[in-house]
Amino acid sequence: MADRKSGLLHVENRVTLNTVSEVIEVITLPLQAGIGWEAITAQAVQHFSPYDGQCVTLEGDLHGGILASARIVTDCQEPVFSIRNGTYHGRIESTTGEVLYVDLRMDGASEVISADFFRDGLYYASTRTRAQKEGESWIAPSPRFIFNTDTESEIGGHLEVTPSGAATLQVNCLVPEALPNQYTGEISFQSEHFRVLNIEVDKLDGVPWPPEYSTRDIPPNSQPSDLEEMDISLSSLFRQAGVETRIHFNDGALAADIGASAGRPWEGDRWDERELHEMMDTNYSRSLNDREWWLYLLIVTRFDGGPETDNSGYLVVDDQGLPVNSGIGTTGIIFDHSTGNIRDPWAQWTDFIATNYPQYLHLFDFGRGGAFGNSRARQGVAVFWSETLDFLVRNETWYRDRQFLRTIVHELGHALNLAHTWLVGRADTTSFMNYPHRYPHGGSALDRILNYWRDFDYAFDPEELFHLKHGFYDEIVPGGRMEFMEWSPTSVFRDPNAGGTRANLALGIEPTKELFRFTEPVTVNIRVYNHSSEPVPFGRLSPSYGDVVFLIRKPSGGTVRYRPLIYKCQITKETIANKETKTHLTSLAVGSEGFIFDTPGRYEITAMIPDPSSGIMVVARPSTIWVKYPEGNDENVAKVIFDREPALYLYMGGGHHLKNGSAAMEEVVARFPDHPFAAHANLVLGLDKVSGQKNAVSGTVQSADPIAGIPNLQKALDSGVFSDSSANRLKDTIALYSKEEPVKDQYKSKE
Ligand SMILES: [Zn+2]
Repeated sequence: MADRKSGLLHVENRVTLNTVSEVIEVITLPLQAGIGWEAITAQAVQHFSPYDGQCVTLEGDLHGGILASARIVTDCQEPVFSIRNGTYHGRIESTTGEVLYVDLRMDGASEVISADFFRDGLYYASTRTRAQKEGESWIAPSPRFIFNTDTESEIGGHLEVTPSGAATLQVNCLVPEALPNQYTGEISFQSEHFRVLNIEVDKLDGVPWPPEYSTRDIPPNSQPSDLEEMDISLSSLFRQAGVETRIHFNDGALAADIGASAGRPWEGDRWDERELHEMMDTNYSRSLNDREWWLYLLIVTRFDGGPETDNSGYLVVDDQGLPVNSGIGTTGIIFDHSTGNIRDPWAQWTDFIATNYPQYLHLFDFGRGGAFGNSRARQGVAVFWSETLDFLVRNETWYRDRQFLRTIVHELGHALNLAHTWLVGRADTTSFMNYPHRYPHGGSALDRILNYWRDFDYAFDPEELFHLKHGFYDEIVPGGRMEFMEWSPTSVFRDPNAGGTRANLALGIEPTKELFRFTEPVTVNIRVYNHSSEPVPFGRLSPSYGDVVFLIRKPSGGTVRYRPLIYKCQITKETIANKETKTHLTSLAVGSEGFIFDTPGRYEITAMIPDPSSGIMVVARPSTIWVKYPEGNDENVAKVIFDREPALYLYMGGGHHLKNGSAAMEEVVARFPDHPFAAHANLVLGLDKVSGQKNAVSGTVQSADPIAGIPNLQKALDSGVFSDSSANRLKDTIALYSKEEPVKDQYKSKE
């Protein structure tokens, strides 16, 4: 029996029929014609080329997406077009000649239209709205727009789309600008997906590419019984979330011996923040200064978080007396490209003011929002294969592959601005963005993990899917802002008791001192106490794990959230025992936007953690510190260090590749040896020197140089500026590196 299809015929190097709902390949011969496909399509092109661009009804034999033995039954019968789900792109123009380019996403199932607008090649505005179907059109009568990433329009606009062809839409759009403009234009269907994301993958030789497998490989009791058979890959998982991924594998895998080389004694094949940062800076092919649909995925062995310390600051050692690495259990991280911005819009004024009004220099030289406003967040992720293996609760290949692919998707989810589910009120989910050991079903951690996988259906939550499909451009595109992981912080300062009294956790925050010299790094202690009778699941206290959020109110009155340069994810199952206290010393000096305490005056600092046992966000009573007005050499120190590379160098504890960063620290140490910042400069210089650094691109390992580094560390210790617990850690570190023989790598011998 013959099949009939109507639509627009398109003839190029093959023949397609664009119908209302699909695109069909058209050939004139039967499918089993016994000749090559190229000859078949060439024959079809020759036959149908007179009808290119016409509406026709064809009759033939439909096999999947191919209409074989096709012939024309009737000429032009104007088909009734409808709108297809997916992305459209095109140019619209106003009555006054303004031109915008638009990416419009049509989601008929949820009746949502979202769109991003670009002007002169730059992001301009977004809208997201429910629309109603009227006749063949979809109409949103009064959608709100956001401009310049965060200004919401006071008045609504108007958005109307009407199909004008099998693959085109006529757009009629009122953008509520300062002078509202009416735009019209025809846009074309681009993809059945809502986003197209490029992922560049780098890996060490010897660790796997992102795994692919089938749900058939998994035993029935280890996955949902009603799960349909699926081939699972990075691409397939994002595809079912509405995102088309184009994955670019860097062909030359990085040499494994570099990965296994210990730049530092006993740290083995661990990669620290400096090395990951350098990899991204040097080996990623894309510009890191742009927002674009590209992400960098780096697969290496293990994360080096530096030595673990106890509540008093002493290094935690294993039974052989070797330091335990705090990177144990970290399976993935996402990183910001940079802190700070060397393109300082105020730079032209600085010299003028320094000469004419030196007493006001500090007001202009530092502390402006614009100075560090251009950092590009969420551009790269790293996942740690060997660490993942260490924490598998089952050893089968299918289990390992599923776990590792979940970690990769989880980190890429962060890079697209998705938060951990328990931090946004959805602990009870098998989303990629939950941790298996936090799944609230099962008595023991092992039960929770196995139950998570038993229920795991490879899906993001509806809220996450909505973000992936319709999130505003700047809140999802790599290099955009980190909006989704944040929530409005200002109310906390109005009500310091916010968080209530029913929580089982208590949180306190205490600055290491009340008065800080200008430029002196601000450090705070936080203290968590579990006053319930049960252990409570609990993350690490460092802000880089995202569980503890620090909020800082600046002298200007504005409140900022402290954002680390690097977010980490861990696989370890930590709890805080009943009646247990945990403490952590955190430096807040440098965040992803550069130096935080860069203006003299009064600051308030508080911290928040989610209490999973009560569902309450626990907030610490804010503490006050004072950053003194510049005195002595403070401004001269500031002039040396308030810049991008010194900020990075201070944050990461060094970086052999940050030549300007180390030079700035050496300059402070040489010129201002008695300044409190010199102690911190000595500390990071010493840590950088006693740590080697591997570079997998150049294939070099710079080995540790304790002889050069220990004097810096000793000076830092002798300065007396550090708290007891930091001093204890310094003493331990100096003792460790003063041993004659380098300590052998403990982790390799474990395997
Ligand atoms: Zn995470």
